[in-house]
Amino acid sequence: MSAVATELRINGDRLARRLADLAEIGPIEGGGSARLALTDADRDGRNLVVSWMEDLDLRVDVDGIGNVVGTWPADRFDPPVLTGSHIDTVATGGRFDGNLGVLAGLEVLETIIESGVQIEHPVAVGFFTNEEGSRFAPDMLGSLVFAGGLPLEEALDTVAIDGAILGDELAHIGYVGGMPCPARPPRAFVELHIEQGPVLESEGVTIGVVTGVQGISWQELTVTGQSNHAGTTPMGMRHDAGHVAAAIVVAVRRLTSEIPGLVGTVGRMDLHPDLVNVVAARARLTVDLRHPDDDTLATAEAQLANRVEELAHAEGVSVVRRVLARFEPVTFDPTVVDLVEDVAHRHGLAVRRMASGAGHDAQMLARVCPAGMIFVPSVGGISHNPAEYTAPADLTAGADVLLQILLHLANPTAAAADDAFLRKSRPASGPDLRRNGGAGSERDAGAPKESGS
Ligand SMILES: [Zn+2]
Repeated sequence: MSAVATELRINGDRLARRLADLAEIGPIEGGGSARLALTDADRDGRNLVVSWMEDLDLRVDVDGIGNVVGTWPADRFDPPVLTGSHIDTVATGGRFDGNLGVLAGLEVLETIIESGVQIEHPVAVGFFTNEEGSRFAPDMLGSLVFAGGLPLEEALDTVAIDGAILGDELAHIGYVGGMPCPARPPRAFVELHIEQGPVLESEGVTIGVVTGVQGISWQELTVTGQSNHAGTTPMGMRHDAGHVAAAIVVAVRRLTSEIPGLVGTVGRMDLHPDLVNVVAARARLTVDLRHPDDDTLATAEAQLANRVEELAHAEGVSVVRRVLARFEPVTFDPTVVDLVEDVAHRHGLAVRRMASGAGHDAQMLARVCPAGMIFVPSVGGISHNPAEYTAPADLTAGADVLLQILLHLANPTAAAADDAFLRKSRPASGPDLRRNGGAGSERDAGAPKESGS
Protein backbone atom coordinates (compact mmCIF):
# COMPACT_ATOMS: atom_id res chain seq x y z
CA MET A 1 0.00 0.00 0.00
CA SER A 2 1.40 3.37 -0.94
CA ALA A 3 1.80 6.01 1.72
CA VAL A 4 -1.51 7.69 0.93
CA ALA A 5 -3.53 4.60 -0.11
CA THR A 6 -4.01 5.75 -3.68
CA GLU A 7 -5.77 2.53 -4.65
CA LEU A 8 -8.53 2.96 -2.06
CA ARG A 9 -12.04 3.44 -3.54
CA ILE A 10 -15.42 4.39 -2.06
CA ASN A 11 -18.50 2.13 -2.07
CA GLY A 12 -20.75 3.57 -4.79
CA ASP A 13 -23.76 1.43 -3.85
CA ARG A 14 -23.65 2.62 -0.25
CA LEU A 15 -23.47 6.25 -1.45
CA ALA A 16 -26.40 5.73 -3.85
CA ARG A 17 -28.45 4.10 -1.09
CA ARG A 18 -27.94 7.01 1.30
CA LEU A 19 -28.80 9.53 -1.43
CA ALA A 20 -32.05 7.63 -2.07
CA ASP A 21 -32.87 7.38 1.63
CA LEU A 22 -32.33 11.10 2.23
CA ALA A 23 -34.43 11.96 -0.85
CA GLU A 24 -37.35 10.14 0.81
CA ILE A 25 -37.53 12.93 3.38
CA GLY A 26 -39.71 15.76 2.09
CA PRO A 27 -40.47 13.83 -1.09
CA ILE A 28 -42.09 15.65 -4.00
CA GLU A 29 -43.51 14.44 -7.28
CA GLY A 30 -40.87 13.44 -9.81
CA GLY A 31 -38.39 12.02 -7.30
CA GLY A 32 -37.08 15.24 -5.79
CA SER A 33 -37.23 16.67 -2.28
CA ALA A 34 -38.51 19.79 -0.54
CA ARG A 35 -36.57 20.49 2.63
CA LEU A 36 -36.61 24.26 3.01
CA ALA A 37 -34.16 25.43 5.66
CA LEU A 38 -35.21 24.90 9.29
CA THR A 39 -38.58 23.34 8.48
CA ASP A 40 -39.68 20.02 9.99
CA ALA A 41 -38.51 18.29 6.80
CA ASP A 42 -35.06 19.86 7.19
CA ARG A 43 -35.00 18.62 10.80
CA ASP A 44 -35.88 15.08 9.72
CA GLY A 45 -33.17 15.15 7.05
CA ARG A 46 -30.65 16.45 9.59
CA ASN A 47 -31.61 13.74 12.08
CA LEU A 48 -31.06 11.03 9.48
CA VAL A 49 -27.61 12.31 8.47
CA VAL A 50 -26.61 12.78 12.14
CA SER A 51 -27.68 9.17 12.84
CA TRP A 52 -25.34 8.04 10.05
CA MET A 53 -22.53 10.13 11.55
CA GLU A 54 -23.17 8.50 14.92
CA ASP A 55 -23.17 5.03 13.33
CA LEU A 56 -19.59 5.78 12.24
CA ASP A 57 -18.64 6.96 15.76
CA LEU A 58 -17.88 10.47 14.52
CA ARG A 59 -17.90 13.26 17.10
CA VAL A 60 -20.93 15.34 16.12
CA ASP A 61 -20.63 19.06 16.87
CA VAL A 62 -23.45 21.57 16.28
CA ASP A 63 -22.76 25.30 16.34
CA GLY A 64 -24.93 28.30 17.20
CA ILE A 65 -26.34 28.64 13.67
CA GLY A 66 -27.09 24.92 13.35
CA ASN A 67 -24.13 23.89 11.20
CA VAL A 68 -23.25 20.25 11.94
CA VAL A 69 -19.75 18.76 11.71
CA GLY A 70 -18.88 15.09 12.25
CA THR A 71 -15.19 14.49 13.00
CA TRP A 72 -13.04 11.35 12.96
CA PRO A 73 -11.25 10.33 15.10
CA ALA A 74 -13.79 11.57 17.65
CA ASP A 75 -11.16 12.45 20.25
CA ARG A 76 -9.15 14.73 17.94
CA PHE A 77 -9.76 18.44 18.42
CA ASP A 78 -7.04 19.90 16.16
CA PRO A 79 -8.26 21.47 12.89
CA PRO A 80 -9.60 18.77 10.55
CA VAL A 81 -9.54 18.47 6.80
CA LEU A 82 -13.21 19.26 6.24
CA THR A 83 -15.57 18.30 3.45
CA GLY A 84 -19.33 18.74 3.16
CA SER A 85 -22.08 20.88 1.67
CA HIS A 86 -25.77 21.33 2.54
CA ILE A 87 -28.90 19.23 2.85
CA ASP A 88 -31.50 21.99 2.71
CA THR A 89 -33.20 22.26 -0.69
CA VAL A 90 -35.33 24.67 -2.68
CA ALA A 91 -39.08 23.92 -2.76
CA THR A 92 -38.60 22.03 -6.04
CA GLY A 93 -35.30 20.42 -5.13
CA GLY A 94 -33.56 17.48 -6.72
CA ARG A 95 -31.81 14.74 -4.77
CA PHE A 96 -28.19 15.63 -5.55
CA ASP A 97 -27.73 19.38 -5.02
CA GLY A 98 -25.81 19.66 -1.73
CA ASN A 99 -26.82 16.19 -0.58
CA LEU A 100 -24.10 14.66 -2.76
CA GLY A 101 -21.37 16.70 -1.09
CA VAL A 102 -22.53 15.69 2.40
CA LEU A 103 -23.19 12.01 1.70
CA ALA A 104 -20.07 11.57 -0.45
CA GLY A 105 -18.13 13.11 2.43
CA LEU A 106 -19.72 10.62 4.81
CA GLU A 107 -18.89 7.81 2.40
CA VAL A 108 -15.28 8.99 2.15
CA LEU A 109 -14.96 9.00 5.95
CA GLU A 110 -16.52 5.53 6.17
CA THR A 111 -14.07 4.26 3.53
CA ILE A 112 -11.12 5.73 5.43
CA ILE A 113 -12.33 4.28 8.74
CA GLU A 114 -12.99 0.82 7.26
CA SER A 115 -9.61 0.72 5.52
CA GLY A 116 -7.67 1.32 8.72
CA VAL A 117 -5.39 3.70 6.81
CA GLN A 118 -3.47 6.02 9.14
CA ILE A 119 -4.03 9.76 8.90
CA GLU A 120 -2.00 12.58 10.42
CA HIS A 121 -4.82 15.10 10.67
CA PRO A 122 -8.45 14.45 11.58
CA VAL A 123 -11.04 14.38 8.79
CA ALA A 124 -14.56 15.76 9.06
CA VAL A 125 -17.80 16.07 7.12
CA GLY A 126 -20.30 18.86 7.69
CA PHE A 127 -23.54 20.36 6.47
CA PHE A 128 -24.26 24.07 6.63
CA THR A 129 -27.54 25.78 7.51
CA ASN A 130 -29.65 27.55 4.87
CA GLU A 131 -27.36 27.24 1.87
CA GLU A 132 -30.16 27.65 -0.64
CA GLY A 133 -31.47 30.91 0.72
CA SER A 134 -34.95 30.41 -0.67
CA ARG A 135 -36.52 30.73 2.80
CA PHE A 136 -33.98 33.02 4.50
CA ALA A 137 -31.68 35.51 2.70
CA PRO A 138 -28.82 35.55 2.17
CA ASP A 139 -28.01 32.14 0.80
CA MET A 140 -24.98 30.28 2.21
CA LEU A 141 -25.89 31.86 5.54
CA GLY A 142 -24.61 29.02 7.75
CA SER A 143 -21.20 28.84 6.12
CA LEU A 144 -21.01 32.66 6.10
CA VAL A 145 -21.48 32.72 9.89
CA PHE A 146 -19.09 29.75 10.24
CA ALA A 147 -16.41 31.76 8.41
CA GLY A 148 -17.03 34.93 10.41
CA GLY A 149 -18.62 36.92 7.59
CA LEU A 150 -21.86 37.63 9.45
CA PRO A 151 -22.35 37.99 13.22
CA LEU A 152 -24.34 35.13 14.77
CA GLU A 153 -26.83 37.45 16.49
CA GLU A 154 -27.61 39.20 13.23
CA ALA A 155 -28.07 35.88 11.44
CA LEU A 156 -30.44 34.61 14.14
CA ASP A 157 -32.66 37.69 13.62
CA THR A 158 -33.12 36.96 9.91
CA VAL A 159 -36.80 36.97 8.89
CA ALA A 160 -38.03 34.28 6.48
CA ILE A 161 -40.23 34.94 3.47
CA ASP A 162 -43.00 33.27 5.55
CA GLY A 163 -42.37 35.71 8.44
CA ALA A 164 -40.60 33.22 10.74
CA ILE A 165 -37.48 34.28 12.68
CA LEU A 166 -34.43 32.15 11.97
CA GLY A 167 -33.40 31.80 15.63
CA ASP A 168 -36.90 30.63 16.60
CA GLU A 169 -37.00 28.08 13.81
CA LEU A 170 -33.55 26.78 14.69
CA ALA A 171 -34.64 26.27 18.32
CA HIS A 172 -37.89 24.69 17.16
CA ILE A 173 -36.07 21.98 15.20
CA GLY A 174 -33.58 21.45 18.04
CA TYR A 175 -30.40 22.48 16.26
CA VAL A 176 -28.99 25.27 18.44
CA GLY A 177 -25.58 23.87 19.35
CA GLY A 178 -22.77 24.90 21.63
CA MET A 179 -19.88 24.90 19.18
CA PRO A 180 -18.80 28.54 18.83
CA CYS A 181 -19.11 30.45 15.58
CA PRO A 182 -17.26 31.81 13.84
CA ALA A 183 -15.64 28.40 14.00
CA ARG A 184 -11.96 27.70 14.33
CA PRO A 185 -10.82 27.41 10.70
CA PRO A 186 -10.41 23.86 9.42
CA ARG A 187 -7.09 22.81 7.92
CA ALA A 188 -8.66 22.83 4.45
CA PHE A 189 -12.12 22.50 2.89
CA VAL A 190 -13.08 20.62 -0.27
CA GLU A 191 -16.67 20.35 -1.52
CA LEU A 192 -18.02 17.91 -4.09
CA HIS A 193 -21.09 19.25 -5.88
CA ILE A 194 -23.09 18.66 -9.02
CA GLU A 195 -22.36 21.23 -11.72
CA GLN A 196 -26.00 22.39 -12.01
CA GLY A 197 -25.15 23.50 -15.54
CA PRO A 198 -24.75 21.79 -18.93
CA VAL A 199 -21.02 22.21 -19.65
CA LEU A 200 -19.51 18.96 -18.33
CA GLU A 201 -22.15 16.71 -19.85
CA SER A 202 -22.09 18.45 -23.22
CA GLU A 203 -18.29 18.15 -23.41
CA GLY A 204 -18.18 14.57 -22.15
CA VAL A 205 -16.08 15.57 -19.13
CA THR A 206 -16.47 13.76 -15.78
CA ILE A 207 -14.66 16.08 -13.36
CA GLY A 208 -14.93 19.86 -13.23
CA VAL A 209 -11.98 21.46 -11.45
CA VAL A 210 -13.58 24.54 -9.96
CA THR A 211 -11.28 27.55 -10.01
CA GLY A 212 -13.65 30.02 -8.34
CA VAL A 213 -17.18 31.31 -7.95
CA GLN A 214 -18.63 34.35 -9.69
CA GLY A 215 -19.81 37.37 -7.70
CA ILE A 216 -23.46 37.46 -6.64
CA SER A 217 -25.72 40.47 -6.12
CA TRP A 218 -29.25 40.05 -4.78
CA GLN A 219 -31.57 43.00 -4.32
CA GLU A 220 -35.21 43.53 -3.61
CA LEU A 221 -36.99 46.47 -5.23
CA THR A 222 -40.24 47.82 -3.84
CA VAL A 223 -42.12 50.04 -6.29
CA THR A 224 -44.83 52.25 -4.82
CA GLY A 225 -47.40 53.92 -7.08
CA GLN A 226 -51.12 54.50 -6.69
CA SER A 227 -53.99 52.05 -7.01
CA ASN A 228 -56.85 53.24 -9.11
CA HIS A 229 -59.78 52.08 -11.26
CA ALA A 230 -58.66 50.07 -14.29
CA GLY A 231 -61.50 51.39 -16.45
CA THR A 232 -61.76 55.04 -15.56
CA THR A 233 -58.14 56.13 -15.03
CA PRO A 234 -56.69 57.55 -18.27
CA MET A 235 -53.40 55.89 -19.26
CA GLY A 236 -51.50 59.17 -18.99
CA MET A 237 -52.60 59.70 -15.39
CA ARG A 238 -51.50 56.39 -13.92
CA HIS A 239 -48.78 55.65 -11.38
CA ASP A 240 -48.68 51.96 -12.15
CA ALA A 241 -46.25 49.99 -9.97
CA GLY A 242 -46.93 46.83 -11.99
CA HIS A 243 -45.91 48.52 -15.22
CA VAL A 244 -42.61 49.71 -13.71
CA ALA A 245 -41.91 46.25 -12.27
CA ALA A 246 -42.43 44.69 -15.70
CA ALA A 247 -40.14 47.30 -17.28
CA ILE A 248 -37.46 46.45 -14.71
CA VAL A 249 -37.69 42.78 -15.73
CA VAL A 250 -37.07 43.83 -19.34
CA ALA A 251 -34.23 46.18 -18.28
CA VAL A 252 -32.48 43.32 -16.46
CA ARG A 253 -32.62 41.14 -19.57
CA ARG A 254 -31.34 43.98 -21.76
CA LEU A 255 -28.44 44.60 -19.38
CA THR A 256 -27.32 40.97 -19.77
CA SER A 257 -27.11 41.44 -23.53
CA GLU A 258 -25.01 44.59 -23.09
CA ILE A 259 -22.50 43.26 -20.52
CA PRO A 260 -20.72 40.07 -21.67
CA GLY A 261 -20.78 37.31 -19.07
CA LEU A 262 -23.50 38.95 -16.97
CA VAL A 263 -26.47 36.77 -15.96
CA GLY A 264 -29.59 38.40 -14.52
CA THR A 265 -32.84 37.03 -13.15
CA VAL A 266 -36.06 38.37 -11.69
CA GLY A 267 -37.26 35.29 -9.83
CA ARG A 268 -39.85 36.79 -7.52
CA MET A 269 -42.51 39.40 -8.03
CA ASP A 270 -45.77 40.25 -6.33
CA LEU A 271 -48.32 42.96 -6.88
CA HIS A 272 -50.63 44.71 -4.46
CA PRO A 273 -53.58 44.70 -4.24
CA ASP A 274 -53.28 41.96 -6.88
CA LEU A 275 -56.73 42.40 -8.41
CA VAL A 276 -57.86 42.16 -12.02
CA ASN A 277 -59.47 45.61 -12.22
CA VAL A 278 -57.15 47.69 -10.07
CA VAL A 279 -53.94 49.49 -11.10
CA ALA A 280 -51.22 48.06 -8.87
CA ALA A 281 -50.25 50.36 -5.99
CA ARG A 282 -47.20 48.36 -5.09
CA ALA A 283 -44.88 45.85 -6.71
CA ARG A 284 -42.08 43.98 -5.01
CA LEU A 285 -39.50 42.09 -7.06
CA THR A 286 -36.05 40.60 -6.64
CA VAL A 287 -33.08 40.94 -8.99
CA ASP A 288 -30.22 38.41 -9.05
CA LEU A 289 -27.11 39.58 -10.96
CA ARG A 290 -23.89 37.55 -11.27
CA HIS A 291 -20.52 38.09 -12.93
CA PRO A 292 -17.01 36.66 -12.39
CA ASP A 293 -15.47 40.16 -12.23
CA ASP A 294 -16.42 42.34 -9.27
CA ASP A 295 -15.96 45.70 -11.02
CA THR A 296 -18.17 44.57 -13.88
CA LEU A 297 -20.79 43.37 -11.41
CA ALA A 298 -20.70 46.76 -9.68
CA THR A 299 -21.10 48.48 -13.08
CA ALA A 300 -24.13 46.31 -13.82
CA GLU A 301 -25.66 47.24 -10.47
CA ALA A 302 -25.09 50.94 -11.13
CA GLN A 303 -26.53 50.81 -14.65
CA LEU A 304 -29.59 48.97 -13.42
CA ALA A 305 -30.06 51.54 -10.64
CA ASN A 306 -29.97 54.33 -13.25
CA ARG A 307 -32.58 52.64 -15.40
CA VAL A 308 -34.82 51.96 -12.44
CA GLU A 309 -34.62 55.64 -11.53
CA GLU A 310 -35.55 56.70 -15.08
CA LEU A 311 -38.47 54.29 -15.16
CA ALA A 312 -39.70 55.44 -11.76
CA HIS A 313 -39.46 59.09 -12.78
CA ALA A 314 -41.36 58.53 -16.02
CA GLU A 315 -44.25 56.77 -14.25
CA GLY A 316 -44.29 58.95 -11.14
CA VAL A 317 -43.65 56.15 -8.67
CA SER A 318 -41.00 55.65 -5.98
CA VAL A 319 -38.62 52.71 -5.73
CA VAL A 320 -36.86 51.52 -2.57
CA ARG A 321 -33.92 49.16 -2.98
CA ARG A 322 -32.80 46.67 -0.33
CA VAL A 323 -29.64 44.59 -0.72
CA LEU A 324 -30.37 40.96 0.19
CA ALA A 325 -26.91 39.56 -0.52
CA ARG A 326 -23.68 40.75 -2.08
CA PHE A 327 -20.77 38.37 -2.44
CA GLU A 328 -17.54 39.16 -4.24
CA PRO A 329 -16.16 36.66 -6.74
CA VAL A 330 -13.98 34.03 -5.08
CA THR A 331 -10.78 32.40 -6.36
CA PHE A 332 -10.07 28.99 -4.89
CA ASP A 333 -6.68 28.02 -3.44
CA PRO A 334 -4.34 27.15 -6.33
CA THR A 335 -2.85 24.22 -4.41
CA VAL A 336 -6.26 22.64 -3.90
CA VAL A 337 -7.26 23.38 -7.50
CA ASP A 338 -4.10 21.67 -8.79
CA LEU A 339 -4.68 18.74 -6.46
CA VAL A 340 -8.22 18.16 -7.78
CA GLU A 341 -6.84 18.18 -11.32
CA ASP A 342 -3.94 15.85 -10.46
CA VAL A 343 -6.12 13.27 -8.75
CA ALA A 344 -8.72 13.27 -11.53
CA HIS A 345 -5.95 12.78 -14.11
CA ARG A 346 -4.52 9.92 -12.08
CA HIS A 347 -7.95 8.28 -12.08
CA GLY A 348 -7.98 8.52 -15.88
CA LEU A 349 -10.94 10.87 -15.90
CA ALA A 350 -11.64 13.65 -18.42
CA VAL A 351 -11.08 16.95 -16.63
CA ARG A 352 -11.88 20.58 -17.25
CA ARG A 353 -11.18 23.75 -15.28
CA MET A 354 -14.22 25.99 -14.82
CA ALA A 355 -15.71 28.76 -12.69
CA SER A 356 -18.90 28.06 -10.76
CA GLY A 357 -22.02 29.89 -11.86
CA ALA A 358 -23.80 29.09 -8.60
CA GLY A 359 -22.84 30.10 -5.07
CA HIS A 360 -21.55 27.38 -2.75
CA ASP A 361 -20.49 26.95 0.88
CA ALA A 362 -16.88 26.46 -0.28
CA GLN A 363 -16.71 30.14 -1.25
CA MET A 364 -17.38 31.11 2.37
CA LEU A 365 -14.83 28.63 3.72
CA ALA A 366 -12.30 30.10 1.24
CA ARG A 367 -12.21 33.17 3.49
CA VAL A 368 -10.57 31.23 6.31
CA CYS A 369 -8.75 28.20 4.88
CA PRO A 370 -7.43 26.74 1.62
CA ALA A 371 -10.61 25.66 -0.21
CA GLY A 372 -11.67 24.13 -3.49
CA MET A 373 -14.46 22.26 -5.24
CA ILE A 374 -15.06 19.27 -7.49
CA PHE A 375 -17.95 19.27 -9.97
CA VAL A 376 -19.60 16.23 -11.55
CA PRO A 377 -21.99 16.43 -14.53
CA SER A 378 -25.68 17.33 -14.26
CA VAL A 379 -27.64 15.62 -17.02
CA GLY A 380 -29.19 18.30 -19.24
CA GLY A 381 -27.77 20.93 -16.90
CA ILE A 382 -30.97 20.64 -14.89
CA SER A 383 -30.99 21.55 -11.19
CA HIS A 384 -33.39 22.96 -8.59
CA ASN A 385 -35.83 20.58 -10.23
CA PRO A 386 -36.92 17.01 -9.30
CA ALA A 387 -35.50 15.93 -12.69
CA GLU A 388 -31.97 16.77 -11.49
CA TYR A 389 -29.82 13.73 -12.29
CA THR A 390 -26.19 12.63 -12.20
CA ALA A 391 -25.21 9.17 -13.45
CA PRO A 392 -24.13 6.70 -10.73
CA ALA A 393 -20.70 6.29 -12.37
CA ASP A 394 -20.14 10.04 -12.15
CA LEU A 395 -21.25 10.17 -8.50
CA THR A 396 -18.74 7.42 -7.71
CA ALA A 397 -15.97 9.04 -9.76
CA GLY A 398 -16.45 12.35 -7.96
CA ALA A 399 -16.51 10.70 -4.53
CA ASP A 400 -13.35 8.73 -5.37
CA VAL A 401 -11.56 11.96 -6.31
CA LEU A 402 -12.79 13.51 -3.05
CA LEU A 403 -11.48 10.50 -1.11
CA GLN A 404 -7.98 10.85 -2.55
CA ILE A 405 -7.93 14.59 -1.95
CA LEU A 406 -8.92 14.15 1.70
CA LEU A 407 -6.32 11.42 2.17
CA HIS A 408 -3.71 13.63 0.57
CA LEU A 409 -4.55 16.70 2.66
CA ALA A 410 -4.89 14.69 5.86
CA ASN A 411 -1.52 13.00 5.24
CA PRO A 412 0.80 15.78 4.05
CA THR A 413 3.98 13.99 5.11
CA ALA A 414 3.07 10.75 3.41
CA ALA A 415 1.75 12.60 0.38
CA ALA A 416 5.02 14.51 0.00
CA ALA A 417 6.90 11.23 0.10
CA ASP A 418 4.64 9.63 -2.45
CA ASP A 419 6.28 10.56 -5.75
CA ALA A 420 3.40 9.18 -7.73
CA PHE A 421 1.17 11.88 -6.32
CA LEU A 422 3.35 14.75 -7.35
CA ARG A 423 3.33 16.30 -10.76
CA LYS A 424 6.69 16.15 -12.50
CA SER A 425 6.91 19.93 -12.49
CA ARG A 426 6.00 20.36 -8.82
CA PRO A 427 8.77 20.71 -6.19
CA ALA A 428 9.00 17.61 -3.99
CA SER A 429 7.96 19.52 -0.89
CA GLY A 430 4.27 18.69 -1.40
CA PRO A 431 1.40 21.17 -1.33
CA ASP A 432 1.88 24.43 0.44
CA LEU A 433 -1.21 24.80 2.59
CA ARG A 434 -0.71 28.40 3.51
CA ARG A 435 -3.74 30.25 4.74
CA ASN A 436 -5.50 32.60 2.35
CA GLY A 437 -4.18 36.10 2.83
CA GLY A 438 -6.44 39.04 3.56
CA ALA A 439 -9.32 37.03 4.95
CA GLY A 440 -9.85 39.65 7.64
CA SER A 441 -10.38 42.48 5.23
CA GLU A 442 -13.02 40.50 3.35
CA ARG A 443 -14.91 39.44 6.42
CA ASP A 444 -17.60 42.04 6.15
CA ALA A 445 -17.93 41.96 2.40
CA GLY A 446 -20.69 39.37 2.43
CA ALA A 447 -22.85 40.81 5.15
CA PRO A 448 -26.29 41.92 3.99
CA LYS A 449 -26.63 45.68 3.84
CA GLU A 450 -29.64 47.91 3.85
CA SER A 451 -29.77 50.67 1.33
CA GLY A 452 -32.33 53.42 1.01
CA SER A 453 -32.80 53.86 -2.72
ZN1 LIG B 1 -25.96 23.31 -3.62
